Amino acid sequence: ADRGGATMQNPVFIPGPTNLPEFLRKAVDMPTLDHRSSAFADLLHPAIAGVRQVIKTREAEVFLFPSTGTGGWETAISNVLSAGDAVLAARHGMFSQRWIDMCQRHGLAVEVVEAAWGAGLPADRYEEILTADKEHRIKAVLATHNETATGVVSDIAAVRRALDAAGHPALLLVDGVSSVGSMDFCFDDWGVDIAVTGSQKGFMLPPGLAIVVFSARAMQACATAKLARCFFDIRDMGRSNAAGLYPYTPPVGLIAGLRLAADSLLAEGLDVVFARHKRIADGVRAAAGAWGMPLCARSPDLYSQTVTTICTPPGFNATGIVTRAADVYQTAFGTGLGELAGKVFRFGHLGQLSDMAALSGLAVLEMCMADLGLPVRLGSGVAAAQEVYRTTAVQPMKQA
Ligand code: PLP
Repeated sequence: ADRGGATMQNPVFIPGPTNLPEFLRKAVDMPTLDHRSSAFADLLHPAIAGVRQVIKTREAEVFLFPSTGTGGWETAISNVLSAGDAVLAARHGMFSQRWIDMCQRHGLAVEVVEAAWGAGLPADRYEEILTADKEHRIKAVLATHNETATGVVSDIAAVRRALDAAGHPALLLVDGVSSVGSMDFCFDDWGVDIAVTGSQKGFMLPPGLAIVVFSARAMQACATAKLARCFFDIRDMGRSNAAGLYPYTPPVGLIAGLRLAADSLLAEGLDVVFARHKRIADGVRAAAGAWGMPLCARSPDLYSQTVTTICTPPGFNATGIVTRAADVYQTAFGTGLGELAGKVFRFGHLGQLSDMAALSGLAVLEMCMADLGLPVRLGSGVAAAQEVYRTTAVQPMKQA
């Protein structure tokens, strides 16, 4: 395709799939390996062990399905619930909405708590509802850790506290698709029962793996759950995992890549990785402030470190910025989703991103906004981000 004279592939600024680090791109590109041989077990078991460490669990079961985050949602609900079961969920963005929709299509009775798109999960409302549910009709509580549509992170520990305060035995099912590996996720400490993520976000791999983690309680619930499941049945996957096998043909390259991705995150140090994402995100947020554009996330405690959702002035079509960036400057950003369509654009900063890349993304956005007549001074957002990056550089330049 004509790339407008561009001679290099630009980084992407979408909130997943992320830019691929070169060593992971190479790891995924491997010769065919017999997945019935012990060589496959040598890839699978360390990949599973690595996920356990990244998600901070000692003993939970890890399942790797050839799928995506959406398949991970389906794995979670279909293995522990039965048709007609009540489920508690908050709707505060497009991804929490899609998981609710999936539950409804599976015949679950979803009690939906409406919250503003830009607000976090209302754990206090959860506590009231769980406390009132004396008969324990609610079998599962859903939580979206990082709403990729709004750029909002929610407090999962608070959801666990709500369950405990109500003395309620419902399982805690958490969508960590756009947080795990980039933001702290404490599976054991938060008392999570099922966590879901995918290969193409914090693990910086191509899409193709649903990564799903089950607590001992979730494993027990699987024995009595009656929702139909076959491809995503963790009983088949669990038996195979134990033998170092797979119930069907595994995406071997992705599993090899997952092992390396987890190793690299752990070698860098999870706290260092999380701080790196926050620092890049701080620069992007500073740029939005310089442009006079509010964030969708309503308060700093809700700021996502993996995606920033920026509101454009009323009456302006925010999608025009994303379209122009793609068509004229060959650079990808995220559009507004659902009720935010046309009102916001999204800057994804998860996975591998440098100061230089983030600054170039901000510069492209400024060109698009100026082209489209928004009163944004070229360089203003870039300068604000530069101030953040130069004052927080990990190895500041020594003064002469
Ligand atoms: N949940 C969240 C928070 C997401 O951001 C996404 C995708 O962006 C999904 C679920 C769905 O994942 P997938 O597109 O991999 O099926």
